[in-house]
Amino acid sequence: QRCPKCGTIKKSHRNHDLHEYYCTNCDYRSNDDRLGAMNIQLLGTQYISGQEQPKFELTTNA
Ligand SMILES: [Zn+2]
Repeated sequence: QRCPKCGTIKKSHRNHDLHEYYCTNCDYRSNDDRLGAMNIQLLGTQYISGQEQPKFELTTNA
């Protein structure tokens, strides 16, 4: 799960029971389903922009 605010990727940020995403790095909080939709939209935007293999940049401090 990628934080849309600071870019940190940390699977444990997602609370499956509450369906809530909480980033411990920047205190960003959101519904996890909404966040997933946002990330998918970002990948789609990269794809139509000409990137053949859309992906997120991995952050080393995640
Ligand atoms: Zn964050």
